[in-house]
Amino acid sequence: SDAAPKYRRILLKLSGEALMGEEDYGIDPKVIGRLADEIIEASKAGVQIGVVIGGGNIFRGAGLAAAGMDRVTGDHMGMLATVINALAMQDALEKRGAYARVMSAIQIHDVCEDYILRRAVRHIEKGRIAIFAAGTGNPFFTTDSAAALRAIELNADLLLKATKVDGVYTADPAKHSDAERFETLTYDEVIERKLAVMDTAAIALCRDHGMPLRIYDQTQPGNLGRILRGEPIGTLVEA
Ligand code: UDP
Repeated sequence: SDAAPKYRRILLKLSGEALMGEEDYGIDPKVIGRLADEIIEASKAGVQIGVVIGGGNIFRGAGLAAAGMDRVTGDHMGMLATVINALAMQDALEKRGAYARVMSAIQIHDVCEDYILRRAVRHIEKGRIAIFAAGTGNPFFTTDSAAALRAIELNADLLLKATKVDGVYTADPAKHSDAERFETLTYDEVIERKLAVMDTAAIALCRDHGMPLRIYDQTQPGNLGRILRGEPIGTLVEA
């Protein structure tokens, strides 16, 4: 439908794994291109967009630590992995004629801008797509927490978490055929039932600041646009 978007400003969280597609490491250009197309379509519909990208397709600090590396060093590597992904997304967006800016929470001036809130607001108000890299800039955090943080700082209307499943289930739908999907959940239900939505720090931030969160299946082309037009796809978490 041609309905006007329901949201003025959104923060989209893409996991690193979302960029892998059928590969088992790195970035699949077809997948990142399709995601870029959907982001541009939303931007053209007038939605202001910030994107937080994970790094799990390259490095995760916890995994590196389990293999014997210092955790803080591993987290630094994980954050740098998100910068790599962010640059790839910036390139995909620009190749398609859009304006995008990578803003990093750790300083890498030869490669991208620093994350500065007022500049980020300026970018998205001008219709540029801001890509927030390096998570929160701190070890022991995740890009889910970074997404919650940026959504709140930017006063977004909605935090969208793109996943490979079409919402939050009572149990893992890949393992339990009787698992049921929630249409809505409260933040406290997510935390108490230990549902695999986002880590607890991210959920608690959303709860404490009333940031609505929708979890949806990003492998289904067109879902982003459907959500922005108001279709209740996936699972909505709110107070
Ligand atoms: N990371 C970090 N601080 C942050 C965000 C990320 O140290 O604020 C590191 C951490 O090691 C994490 C890695 O970067 O495992 C990649 O991020 P994440 O695991 O959230 O990526 P995703 O699962 O979304 O692909």
